[in-house]
Amino acid sequence: MSIYLVLMGAPGAGKGTQAKKLEDELGLPHISTGELFRYNLKNETELGKLAQTYINKGNLVPDNITVAMVRERLTQDDCKNGAILDGFPRNPAQADALEQLLSEFNGEISVVPYIHVDQDYLVERLLKRAEIEGRADDNEETIRARMLVFEEQTQPLLDYYEERGLLVRVDGDQSIDDVAQELFKVVRVKL
Ligand code: ADP
Repeated sequence: MSIYLVLMGAPGAGKGTQAKKLEDELGLPHISTGELFRYNLKNETELGKLAQTYINKGNLVPDNITVAMVRERLTQDDCKNGAILDGFPRNPAQADALEQLLSEFNGEISVVPYIHVDQDYLVERLLKRAEIEGRADDNEETIRARMLVFEEQTQPLLDYYEERGLLVRVDGDQSIDDVAQELFKVVRVKL
C-alpha cells in the first residue's frame, strides 16, 4: 500500500523547506500545490491563467481546478509508492476529495505532521522571504489574506485529522535542522 503524508502549517511555517528534507529522508516525492501553481503561472499555461487572479489575491484557487491538478500529479509514475503533500488539502472539501483519490490509488494517509509557529513570527518571516525570493504573492496585504484563509478554512482540518489519530505536532520555532529531526522522529513512529 502506498504511503501519503499531509504536511500542515500556516503560510511561512516552513512546510516547503521541511517537505524537501522529508523527501530525501523517506524517498517519497514532495508535491506542493503552491509550487505546481507557480510553475503554471510562470509558463502561462491554461491552468496558470485560471489560477492567477486567486493566487495574486491570496485566495484559494477553486477546488475543482486544484483537485484535478493534484489528481494528475499523483497518477505520475514517481508517486506509485506515495507522496508528501504540501499545501493540499486546504479545506474540508479538498480533504474529502483527497480521501476519494487515495482510495482509488489503494493508499491512505499515514500521518499528518503539523508544523506549528506562533502567528506573530509568521508575517515577519513571510515579509523577509518576500525580499529574498520576490514571490508575487508575498506582499503584506496578500500575506494577511493567506493567514485569514488558513485560520478560516485550513485550521478546521487540524481537528479533523486529530480526531482520526493522524495529527502529530512539531515545534516549528527551532532551527531548520532541529525541526527536521523532530519531524523525522514523530513521522517514523507512524510509518
Ligand atoms: P503559502 O506559503 O501561503 O502556504 P503556497 O505556496 O502553499 O503558499 O500557495 C500559494 C497560493 O497557491 C495560495 O495562496 C493559493 O492561492 C494557491 N494554492 C496553493 N495550494 C492550494 C490549494 N490546495 N487549494 C487552493 N489554492 C491553493
